[in-house]
Amino acid sequence: MENKCFKCKKTSHEKALVAIEKDREAKFVCVWCLPTLIHGAK
Ligand SMILES: [Zn+2]
Repeated sequence: MENKCFKCKKTSHEKALVAIEKDREAKFVCVWCLPTLIHGAK
């Protein structure tokens, strides 16, 4: 199974993914969506 950004569904082929933990689950988010998490945007 390929890792995908949980927000935009991009794979690591398209964007660099960062491993995070949210709601006690390990997830990946791409560098593109990461700032929106930091700023708390939906
Ligand atoms: Zn993303």
